[in-house]
Amino acid sequence: MEYITLNNGVTMPMIGFGTWDVRGKFGKQVIMDALKVGYRLIDTAQMYDNESIVGQAIHESGIDRKTIFITTKLDRTSASYEKAKAAIEGSLQRLKTDYIDLLLIHEPYSDALGMYQALKEAYALSKVRAIGISNFDRDRYDQFIKNRGIIPMVDQVESHVYFSQLKLKDHLMRHGTIMQSWGSFTEGRRDIFNDPVLLKIATKHQKTAAQVALRYLTQQGIPVIPKTVHVERMKENFNSLDFDLDQADLGQIRRLD
Ligand code: NAP
Repeated sequence: MEYITLNNGVTMPMIGFGTWDVRGKFGKQVIMDALKVGYRLIDTAQMYDNESIVGQAIHESGIDRKTIFITTKLDRTSASYEKAKAAIEGSLQRLKTDYIDLLLIHEPYSDALGMYQALKEAYALSKVRAIGISNFDRDRYDQFIKNRGIIPMVDQVESHVYFSQLKLKDHLMRHGTIMQSWGSFTEGRRDIFNDPVLLKIATKHQKTAAQVALRYLTQQGIPVIPKTVHVERMKENFNSLDFDLDQADLGQIRRLD
């Protein structure tokens, strides 16, 4: 497993497992499958209504909690200091844990600053190991970090070969924030798995288009959290860190952007 170091020294896996739309008994099994395959970062959110099964799956897996990295996010129902404070306790309970590894503000809500105050307090109390934001573009990020005390450790945003946001990644990096990709496969909206450019590069490396799409991001310092309910695809996506794209590959993929 490759890790990336956040601005407070906490290490985060370069590849994690996304859980959007993964719910119920089936969902719990999917998360347990992902842990069995080797994923050690599970990405959830209050909005996904699945924190309980994430907590249950981790508990039932028998894997040492300390080796697992849990990310969750506060949504608009927690968009104030007081609400965020209470919501953090709710997440801790549902996740059956006494700390969250990474806690994000899901969107740039109007009272994101109030929410961030609650995040910072939870961080000071070691209820959270790292704090950050999601879906903040450059302007919103610049506004947000003015005199905020703690620079967000992560900004989780849409990023894939057709919309990589490499410039945003570099900008965030200059201030100490890691850009993490959601929708690395365009949320299944575009047929990325049959993209001719990715397929050609995949054949050259004896990999799949999915693996090339993920490696394009991770090789450039962008951690990923692909989601799938299929064990074979979990393995395929997980095994995307063991090869390197060369400059010619990177150049061809960049032209898709
Ligand atoms: P995604 O990971 O880009 O794509 C998931 C889609 O790709 C699913 O339809 C899945 O189908 C398919 N897939 C996955 N691996 C595949 C493979 N190897 N071959 C063929 N198809 C494959 O989309 P996402 O779930 O929206 O994003 C990933 C995670 O990011 C989410 O689960 C969530 O945790 C997070 N997220 C965060 C935000 C935010 O606002 N912060 C927004 C969206 C998502 P099957 O399941 O049928 O295999």
